Amino acid sequence: MKKIFIFMMMTALYFSCAKQTKTVEQEEFNYNVEQFADLGILRYQVSNWDSLSLNQKQLVYCLTEAALHGRDILFDQNNRYNLAIRRTLEAIYANYNGDKTTQDYQEFVVYTKRVWFSNGIHHHYGEEKFTPGFSPGFFQQAVKTLPESLVPIRAGQSVDSFLAEITPVMFDTNLYAKKVNQDSRLDVILTSANNYYGENVTQKEVEAFYNAMKNPNDLTPVPFGLNSRLVKKDGKLTEEVYKVGGLYSSALEKVVYWLEEAEKYAENDQQKKVIELLVDFYKTGDLKKYDKYSIEWVHDTHSLVDFVNGFTESYGDALGLKASWESMVNFKDLQSTALTQKLGENAQWFEDHSPVSPQFKKKSVKGITFKTITAAILGGDCYPATPIGINLPNSNWIRKEFGSKSVTITNITEAYDKAAAGNGFLEEFVCCAHEKELMEKYGAQTDNLHTDLHECLGHASGQLLSGIDQDALKVYGSTIEEARADLFGLYYIPDAKMLEMGFLDNAEAYKAEYYKYMMNGLLTQLSRIELGKDIEEAHMRNRALIAHWVLEHGQKDNVVELSKKDGKTYVIINDYDKMRTLIGELLAEIQRIKSEGDFNGAKNLVEQYAVKVDVELHKEILERYGKLHIAPYKGFVNPVYEVVKDAKGNITDIKISYIEGYAEQMLRYAKDYSDLPTYND
Ligand code: ZN
Repeated sequence: MKKIFIFMMMTALYFSCAKQTKTVEQEEFNYNVEQFADLGILRYQVSNWDSLSLNQKQLVYCLTEAALHGRDILFDQNNRYNLAIRRTLEAIYANYNGDKTTQDYQEFVVYTKRVWFSNGIHHHYGEEKFTPGFSPGFFQQAVKTLPESLVPIRAGQSVDSFLAEITPVMFDTNLYAKKVNQDSRLDVILTSANNYYGENVTQKEVEAFYNAMKNPNDLTPVPFGLNSRLVKKDGKLTEEVYKVGGLYSSALEKVVYWLEEAEKYAENDQQKKVIELLVDFYKTGDLKKYDKYSIEWVHDTHSLVDFVNGFTESYGDALGLKASWESMVNFKDLQSTALTQKLGENAQWFEDHSPVSPQFKKKSVKGITFKTITAAILGGDCYPATPIGINLPNSNWIRKEFGSKSVTITNITEAYDKAAAGNGFLEEFVCCAHEKELMEKYGAQTDNLHTDLHECLGHASGQLLSGIDQDALKVYGSTIEEARADLFGLYYIPDAKMLEMGFLDNAEAYKAEYYKYMMNGLLTQLSRIELGKDIEEAHMRNRALIAHWVLEHGQKDNVVELSKKDGKTYVIINDYDKMRTLIGELLAEIQRIKSEGDFNGAKNLVEQYAVKVDVELHKEILERYGKLHIAPYKGFVNPVYEVVKDAKGNITDIKISYIEGYAEQMLRYAKDYSDLPTYND
């Protein structure tokens, strides 16, 4: 199944746990940068940068340049007006001469920072459009004060007509209301504001267009539609392909340039081959080549430096066909990798011992690679909000035949943990002293372990019955897939195997994760949803599904309960053993649904447990959470890399620094890495 990014469960909520030896430098590193709206900006540290050779540093540097040059693509994919709006805001931000103490201006700054953060005008997580806190009058006046050359008007357009076009896109709540609409009662293509489909293209047309491409006898199908916008021309549907010479060419040319530079510093022939294939794909747009690249990328396991660069995840498209552009450059965290490698070596044991019916299990779990990595740069859909784990490629047949790479990103997790230390969250929401103690002591450790199990084993486990369409669960597919991976991890965390393998040193440690999971799924993740709204996002739905199902099915034995004290609701887990049994039962059922492509089974579970929110409870959680003043969403500024040359112009080192601020970085990226025209349709 596609869409296998995992996002931080919530704002990292644990006090730092002694996972790595702290150095003085780490203690003093400033993880918190700033906070606005519902967003917290953090900084991550590229640990062990100086352990890389100069060649490896140069490789990373070229790949970071390739990562940053794709940024505009994502803005345009998210909405066709995003680049125009971003460039207008940036022009005002850099040139405003009026009174900066007014409410309007303050709100303008917040809105601009939100647009940067979300790579557009829709909330990065909730998908809904957020509207400015300043008045349309303030905006129009600010634009009119700018030199006309700084206003991103269309050719021949007047500033007035530009404003007439752009103002409602920003201010009218009904226009482009939702980036991705998952409401299956509506046409999810027509009602989504993203730019993956042209005007007036309907869901039925999209489904028919791509179904016609599918050949049930093709066992190695390409990901149809992944790298294109589907538009109607003269009443006929046609794909505008993202490639050099096609859509987004000017950005992709730069990406290709830096990939070709990177190739010169490749660590080995396999890595060189991977880069060549990716370049070939960008130059042709040929998805067969993309698959070839993906396969070779899976085989590149010996390089220290690695990267994701391309049209990868399809969360941004309600039908899960079109992929957003993203990049992450990283290198192996050797110490932690040794631990997760152990999981990989035992993958078959985990598959064999899971509570899933034998016919839905893989007879042999192949070629899964496990490593933990240090992120060196975040780009596109990984920036500023970023996953803490990645499992790629997404193509099911490639995963089955060749395996996948599964990584967790240790320096990102570490930054979350360190930045959250002492924020009061546990005191407010954890019911009991024992659980709180376990969470403080083991929370970060079991959270990382759950992520490893989710990514390394969960997504890789199980198989579809033959002849089952991998997209059979349609809009419920991602939620079911995430639930499957989470349940697999939850099922094994309490297992004696975890102690035996040295992942945990206390038989009770898993309770920290069990408690957190239930607390999050039943209560605290509601802090990320606006009052009155349903749960939409796949990972959040998955957590709600598991938590509510366990609550309901454990009711007669009082396994888990919601209890109220002084007007505050708490989760109480009375029977951890039985909770594990329930987790196993749900895992078996979810795997059955996935394996059989049981659409109705998926629909029933998701609609019953994962979507609706109790309004009274929701109010209470928002109120309690609000008092803590914690930003529910986090993102990161990147470090700055600087090439050091000697007198003859030879590169002698690549230096890293962490002093750049958020707005500073965004404005620099806008100056140095903004390669696309404002209008791409
Ligand atoms: Zn996942």
